[in-house]
Amino acid sequence: MLKIGILGGGQLGKMLLQAAANYPVETFVMENDDDCPAAHLCHHFTKGDIKNFDDVYRFGKGLDALTIEIESVNEDALEKLETEGVKIYPKPSALRIIKNKILQKQFYKKGDIPTAEFVVTKDLEDVKRNESFIPAVNKIGMGGYDGRGVQIIKTKADLEKGFDAPGILEKLVTIQKEIAQIVAINEKGETALFPPVEMVFDPVLNLLDYQISPANLPEKTLWKVEAIALKIARDLKSPGIFAVELFIDRQNDVFANETAPRVHNSGHHTIEANYCSQFDMLWRIMLGYPLGNPKHIIPAAIVNLIGADGYDGPAYYEGLNEVLQMDNVFVHIYGKQKTRGGRKMGHATILSTDKSDLTHKANKIKHTLKVISQ
Ligand code: ADP
Repeated sequence: MLKIGILGGGQLGKMLLQAAANYPVETFVMENDDDCPAAHLCHHFTKGDIKNFDDVYRFGKGLDALTIEIESVNEDALEKLETEGVKIYPKPSALRIIKNKILQKQFYKKGDIPTAEFVVTKDLEDVKRNESFIPAVNKIGMGGYDGRGVQIIKTKADLEKGFDAPGILEKLVTIQKEIAQIVAINEKGETALFPPVEMVFDPVLNLLDYQISPANLPEKTLWKVEAIALKIARDLKSPGIFAVELFIDRQNDVFANETAPRVHNSGHHTIEANYCSQFDMLWRIMLGYPLGNPKHIIPAAIVNLIGADGYDGPAYYEGLNEVLQMDNVFVHIYGKQKTRGGRKMGHATILSTDKSDLTHKANKIKHTLKVISQ
């Protein structure tokens, strides 16, 4: 049996392991918390720091392949492991491009992939010098995540809020829709496109609020979305799963925003709603099996279950009973011991052929199920 490791033991690692249970594979997980969601589902758990060279190298040595659940892993160790024959999904060369938003934007530009116009900025002074770019968005080059490395700059006064670190300043797109398109690509270069999903954001938390699959797009816009996502996946020259986030503006122009080289929050519904889930698909790629069918069986919505503000401590799921009474709703509790305001604690998938039923239930779940501590 192939030995495959996952760097990171959070919810994505956990869902990967749930899918792995159907395949002949020996699983390994490394995370610095031995009570993390994935710790008890793998065959072998190692406590370690995914950002530390020695920890990652020691963990990966002797494995057949490695994958990641988050980009903030030590890519130097992955590169060394790759030269020693360990297969890495995604390849460290692709990860390096994606980890740094400056390199990522330059990669889009080089490949003629439509993306918001941008300049590279060295520090805050540099941001301020590019006043002509306003309204704009300043994004930190390294380490931004879940909206923390993004600052919207609408006025001259907002320039002060820019990052005093290398990053990019890009033109603000008048967003009509935010879309995520997941692409699978195997060693042979064969691809599978999941139906794109439409993302609806919470303006306060900046975390995904709920999403609808498949996105309602005119055919020509759908083609553009698919073509951009396919080009990105091919140009990265790495097998794996890639989640491409895109903006559609008022003129139906499509812009690549950013790519995650891994299974993604925007694909959670594929567990129940699609013939082959994103997690299944990644195992098929890593184990060398044929790609699965990414098409949806039924439309779906995902609601994130986020730790309520003001609660910090052992998690309690208020309203879970009521939500479990709702028809065609599937609740995934990640099993994180402690909640805190804004933490991703689980998600619920809703299945329905009726779009208004999806949004109605999504809102009902958001108001019924609260993650608090007692
Ligand atoms: P993160 O990696 O932290 O999620 P993103 O680059 O996805 O950062 O940006 C977070 C959010 O900020 C996006 O989902 C979008 O709503 C908004 N945003 C980012 N870039 C732009 C842009 N150029 N124009 C308009 N809104 C943007």
